[in-house]
Amino acid sequence: MGSEESAAVIIEINARFCRRCGECVEACPQSGDREKPVLRGGRGEAAEVANPENCIVCLSCAATCRARAIKVNGVKRPALAVSDLEASAKVKGLY
Ligand code: SF4
Ligand code: SF4
Repeated sequence: MGSEESAAVIIEINARFCRRCGECVEACPQSGDREKPVLRGGRGEAAEVANPENCIVCLSCAATCRARAIKVNGVKRPALAVSDLEASAKVKGLY
């Protein structure tokens, strides 16, 4: 086997969907006050990817984004599953 290179992380933020809430930046353990934050912006600006090489692929950003605007290596926050909708309907006494 030759030398191993870690595959590049691909973080995509769809600026058209971004609501500029900043929650992804707050959720990211590799952003915030770090010298080379992975994500920056939010809080009135579209979030953007600044230093993707520091991403640890924890998926916190994608899981946090209610606008489902972030994909990390193709994974974004799942839509509500049918089971979640059924549970919600039960709570509301719909059946
Ligand atoms: S959590 Fe989603 S909507 Fe909010 S700033 Fe980040 S990308 Fe935009
Ligand atoms: S996957 Fe984790 S480390 Fe990477 S940008 Fe998202 S929250 Fe930050």
